[in-house]
Amino acid sequence: MDFHHLQYWQQRAQALTIENRLFINGRYQPAAEGGTFAVEDPAGQRELTQVARAGDADIELAVSAARAAFERGDWSRAAPSRRKAVLLALAEQIELHAETLALLETLDTGKPIRHSLRDDIPGAARCLRWYAEAIDKVYGEIAPTGVDALALIEREPVGVVGAITPWNFPLLLACWKLGPALATGNSVVLKPSEKSPLSAIYLGRLAQQAGLPDGVLNIVSGFGHDAGKALALHHDVDALTFTGSTQVAKQLMVYAGESNMKRVWLEAGGKSANIIFADCPDIDKAAQAAAAGIFYNQGQVCIAGTRLLVEESIQQTFLQALRKHAAAFAPGNPLDPDTQMGTLIDRGHSAKVAGFIDNGIEQGATLFLDGRGSGPHDAYLGPTVLTRVDNAMQVAREEIFGPVLAVTPFNGEQQAIALANDSDYGLGAALWTRDLSRAHRLARQLRAGSVFINNYNDGDMTVPFGGYKQSGNGRDKSLHALDKFTELKTTWISLE
Ligand code: NAD
Repeated sequence: MDFHHLQYWQQRAQALTIENRLFINGRYQPAAEGGTFAVEDPAGQRELTQVARAGDADIELAVSAARAAFERGDWSRAAPSRRKAVLLALAEQIELHAETLALLETLDTGKPIRHSLRDDIPGAARCLRWYAEAIDKVYGEIAPTGVDALALIEREPVGVVGAITPWNFPLLLACWKLGPALATGNSVVLKPSEKSPLSAIYLGRLAQQAGLPDGVLNIVSGFGHDAGKALALHHDVDALTFTGSTQVAKQLMVYAGESNMKRVWLEAGGKSANIIFADCPDIDKAAQAAAAGIFYNQGQVCIAGTRLLVEESIQQTFLQALRKHAAAFAPGNPLDPDTQMGTLIDRGHSAKVAGFIDNGIEQGATLFLDGRGSGPHDAYLGPTVLTRVDNAMQVAREEIFGPVLAVTPFNGEQQAIALANDSDYGLGAALWTRDLSRAHRLARQLRAGSVFINNYNDGDMTVPFGGYKQSGNGRDKSLHALDKFTELKTTWISLE
């Protein structure tokens, strides 16, 4: 039996031994005070393991291990070619352990195994490999001074980085931080989400096997309001890199201000608009991309195309095509390799998403497609489409983070742009049109970090990812991410 069969994954899940301790200074260990918390499988509705719960003492240990490693210099001052070799080895370790990591990700989050195997785990390895390959090709600068001076501009690692990550793509988003932070020579304390810490914990062993020196990567599972807060308030953490909600992102800025003014880099929420003009080049393809843009990963994607703006003259045709493509996302057992839609992260979140649907209907939206009650239990919630949504309604303004699409008709470019930009968020936006001038003109007017033309959320490691407005600051991916983890050092030398 191979990985194309449900039974294969069920057997692997039963045989799995799960590492559940903190990884500090190159060693797995329980929390100092012995605390643990339950990590659950939302599809199987069972406890997977009790994971070590980091508290203040553990954060203290992890930060001092990271600082000691940084001062020691066997990573921070290692030649870029050495860091490259270790990060390439780490990418390879991830690939060697891809099935176990994918299984952990699926059990922990309820996402389909086909997606963990195809997207999350290879994406994590690709990201580390990309930064490994980049780091011995980044040069410093010489400033254009007069002849009596030589001025060097160099990047130095910022020091100890705290990375706080969410549950929707646990390993992948951790690697978006680890890649550029480690490549530039920093030490990292990673706090994964309490809802999905297992793949990050597993990464500790792989880092060791790859030859990462002790203390350079520390992994502390725990809750946001204690372990996360302790890390964010710590005076010996030089930079924080975060992916998560806008609410917590704002709090991290306060913690930085209350402590040592550490640099704070935030990838936060979204409410991205997907705009379909009547001259859309291919309605079927656009409808398929719109469905994937909101239903993939059960809609738990920061850049999900959650607001569909459709030119009124094609609305009915488009909605019929959308209904057809939404059917591909029928909820099913996440361990079944044919499943395209698993469970939401937990029952509580599913109930919250259902509450948004009720609120949309109460505020006057029409329920075009109802995903409630479409799985074996209520952690499942299938594709849902609300039409006749006014942009002032809660479902158009707040991040739902579930498979709920809000459809709003428009007439003409000006109305489309006004609706798209009328949001507190600015992570992504897409527009579908055959008109090249319109595409460029409107791309410039959209207040979003990424604009997609005739696709939804295509891209790779070469392009920056991040938001305008309350979607965050700084950028993940691409060489621009190096800016977050380095300080610029000027050395001015008199030649007289
Ligand atoms: P969350 O903000 O609840 O939690 C994110 C992380 O912050 C977790 O590790 C959590 O433990 C920690 N945390 C919570 N309170 C904290 C505190 N007071 N101090 C320090 N740390 C604290 O987010 P989530 O529910 O895990 O993830 C979903 C959110 O992530 C959505 O809003 C989504 O849009 C966003 N997201 C953004 C991007 C992006 O690149 N912009 C990507 C993925 C997800």
